Amino acid sequence: MPNSLVEETKRIVAQFDYSDDDVNKGVREFLRQMNEGLQKDGTSISQIPTYVTGVPNGTEKGLYMAVDLGGTNFRVCSVHLNGDTTFNLTYSKVAIPKELMVAKTSKELFGFLAKQIEFFLKTHHEEHFEAHVRRRRSSKTAEGYEDENLFQLGFTFSFPVQQFGINKGSLIRWTKGFDIPDAVGKDVCALLQDEIDLLHLPVKVAALVNDTVGTLMARSYTSPGKTATLIGAIFGTGTNGAYVEKITNLQKSVDGVYDKSTGEMVINTEWGSFDNQLNVLPKTQFDATLDRESVNPGIQIFEKRVSGMFLGEIVRLAVVSLYENANVSLFKGVTSNTNGEQSTTHIGDDSGLFQQWGLDSSLMSVAVADDTPELSSLRQELDSQLKIRSASVEDAQAFKNIAHAVGRRAARLSAVALGSIVIQSGRLKETSDDLVDIGADGSLVEHYPFFRDMIYEALKAIEGIGPEGAERIRIGLATDGSGVGAALIALVAAGMEKKAIVDEIAALKNAAAQKIAGAIPSAGESATLT
Ligand code: ADP
Ligand code: MG
Repeated sequence: MPNSLVEETKRIVAQFDYSDDDVNKGVREFLRQMNEGLQKDGTSISQIPTYVTGVPNGTEKGLYMAVDLGGTNFRVCSVHLNGDTTFNLTYSKVAIPKELMVAKTSKELFGFLAKQIEFFLKTHHEEHFEAHVRRRRSSKTAEGYEDENLFQLGFTFSFPVQQFGINKGSLIRWTKGFDIPDAVGKDVCALLQDEIDLLHLPVKVAALVNDTVGTLMARSYTSPGKTATLIGAIFGTGTNGAYVEKITNLQKSVDGVYDKSTGEMVINTEWGSFDNQLNVLPKTQFDATLDRESVNPGIQIFEKRVSGMFLGEIVRLAVVSLYENANVSLFKGVTSNTNGEQSTTHIGDDSGLFQQWGLDSSLMSVAVADDTPELSSLRQELDSQLKIRSASVEDAQAFKNIAHAVGRRAARLSAVALGSIVIQSGRLKETSDDLVDIGADGSLVEHYPFFRDMIYEALKAIEGIGPEGAERIRIGLATDGSGVGAALIALVAAGMEKKAIVDEIAALKNAAAQKIAGAIPSAGESATLT
């Protein structure tokens, strides 16, 4: 029996092979779909303009707030930017209750978020909070005063959004297991601001931030160096990336105003939807089942092969198919455990192994990291997380091999996205020795063993990058990225607003001056009034 287990495991593992050729085919298609997205709307890679036209240099200063709705958790923080590439961060985090992810109305979710902000302010910024409440009470005119206790807040909202201003954007679709239909098409900043205002909090939603853009900004602030960061990438619950694109390449029309002087704009790729049409992406039976049984079949197809929310489920489906294979004995045998006693492997009735989403991808990290001959920590986790009692070493080895194959394919697919953008940017060619900097965030890059190494291995195989190119690509962690990044974008937004007011006053002055000048023409000149 163990032999058929080994063979059948190999057969499954082989299905997750993603060769160097596959990587290059993937890159060619990724570049094609990226450029299609720069030209028109409605493509699989959305290439959403973010209105952010520059990256910070580390001298930015001030106290800002940031919140992050990323998928699994809601984070609230305040960030003090010191202006010397360093910052201080006060932070709290709460898991999003599952029922709110599929709430009947968006009010339930956004009301919950506003409550968390209130709790954070009361806990960490009582002085601001109290001062604001005092002011509101004493102020005769509720509106129209400038409140120095007002926090400018960057709202990191990591779902596809059609942005039409720095703090305006409507939700295109939910991803990552969220499904609250009435929010689709609405301005998510307004949804949050309304709930904040109901609680009378001293907070202004100043900027709408995608976590990828936040990661890019944070990385650029903390490591300004000579080379500005090119990509902000997330490998967490979901996966997505933002990068700096030349405005000349952005051929579709961009609504609203933005600063054109830099010649660049940060683009939110929404690469989770790369190749929804399955031109080049791998498709095992397990991928197909996962997609069919998901809340959004046919979309986020790339994400469903790469990110934390889905990898565990792919592993689960593959392991279950082994378990159900009559020729294979997995988690069924009689094994001798370490003290020599015989025990029968069995699986608890309520094991996550038989429930959709029942296997968290963090278990993959445990599996891959366990290098002991007995695989004892993995077997212990199989017991505690999946209620698989007394699994044999062979069982655990099969599980580990499958987890490794799924994780490796995810890393190599990640390299397709990153490598394509590096090629698109032309930065490896522009200079001969500068580094191309990438900021990455999310539990997968942070905790999955050797995830970055596996990305590098695939980058080396990409035509147009090669081993020399891969050496010049630096993937650095930008943890806390979304907090600091969102704060930086709130700062940029507040600056933009001030500039708009100053510009407006200047325009009014100018118009008045022209009128006066027109009314009193100087000698020898005729006035032209427009
Ligand atoms: P978010 O995407 O909500 O900002 P994270 O970046 O922490 O949050 O990602 C959470 C996702 O990462 C979950 O899907 C979880 O299953 C997965 N995850 C958490 N820890 C690990 C780990 N050690 N190895 C692999 N995946 C993990
Ligand atoms: Mg995140």
